[in-house]
Amino acid sequence: MKFNTKTIHGGQEHDPAYGAVMPPIYQTSTYAQSTPGGHKGFEYSRTHNPTRQALENAFASIENGAYGLAFGSGLAAIDAVIKILKPGDEVISTNDLYGGTYRLFTKIFEDFGIKFHFIGMENASNIEAYINANTKLIWVETPTNPMLNIIDIKATAAIAKKHNVRLAVDNTFATPYLQRPLDLGADIVMHSATKYMGGHSDVVMGALIVKDKELADQLYFIQNASGAICGPQDSFLVLRGIKTLHVRMQRHCENGKAIAEYLASHPKIEKVYWPGFENHPNHEIAKSQMDDFGGMLSFTTKGNNYEEAIKTVEHLKIFTLAESLGGVESLSGHPASMTHASIPKIEREKTGVVDSLIRLSVGIEDINDLIDDLKQALG
Ligand SMILES: *Cc1c(COP(=O)(O)O)cnc(C)c1O
Repeated sequence: MKFNTKTIHGGQEHDPAYGAVMPPIYQTSTYAQSTPGGHKGFEYSRTHNPTRQALENAFASIENGAYGLAFGSGLAAIDAVIKILKPGDEVISTNDLYGGTYRLFTKIFEDFGIKFHFIGMENASNIEAYINANTKLIWVETPTNPMLNIIDIKATAAIAKKHNVRLAVDNTFATPYLQRPLDLGADIVMHSATKYMGGHSDVVMGALIVKDKELADQLYFIQNASGAICGPQDSFLVLRGIKTLHVRMQRHCENGKAIAEYLASHPKIEKVYWPGFENHPNHEIAKSQMDDFGGMLSFTTKGNNYEEAIKTVEHLKIFTLAESLGGVESLSGHPASMTHASIPKIEREKTGVVDSLIRLSVGIEDINDLIDDLKQALG
């Protein structure tokens, strides 16, 4: 099955009870048993729920995995991955990272005796120097947030395999429409399904997808034992969102390209970060591992003026100033004061998150309206 068919049919069966084409929202915590243990595969909704299971099958299908797991948020999904580790274990992570992931790693899991190395991975050969006998996991986000750096998944996977370390990829920005990390050798794919997967800014959810049965069993155990699951209503909404992922992504990519090109030609703009530009430092890797370049981009204004950046986002009318990304509507963000405020200024400036940086999640509105909006706000 091709991707554009999998988004609609992958892992899905019509409801066996009445033939409902969409999986019903099984809003139930428990399931009747005819005799102790005599159930139809469902006992308690923390462990299993038919609506969630339909969604988990869809996740597995579109990422070319074998097993999918849905969580109450992207961070809950990441939390489950790190819980595989033991005190003393080490993780090598991208340094240009979603702020909440950085906070989870440093403020929660460092206290549990797990050591994190945050490094630049734009050159995959940087990674090997940090690997030792305690290294258990490499954590990659690509494209990175908000600098749109590209990390070579295939090369990183080769290093991980060589040292018997697992590779997890946060695929939130790209989605499987653009990039399928399991095919490139990753062990775990993670999503904030809050973003493009859900696609309508109405759900908070996380996902993990793996191929390996033993790893899946470990993660299912943690999902059930720790309990950070999502509910049936949210599962239904994300399942519905996935059905249009390919058409939404196509438009996100078209609009993203048009806006990147518009901004690059604007006299007030210093720099536009978008992996589709030939002069992007890792454009060739982006081209080889992604099918297109997505709807996320960042830019800085000349003079790197904090107040001017704030004024620009305040003046945008169609681009809503808000946290999050990946919905049908365009959003703007000021990472230094919003998504990345939890990363110390000195750390964030090292990765390029300066005061004038503005991030755009380009939606699927009419491109002329979006460009006019940017024009007036920058003016
Ligand atoms: C939003 C986001 C997360 C966290 O997901 P939540 O659903 O907000 O918990 C992780 N990684 C990336 C890249 C994100 O954009």
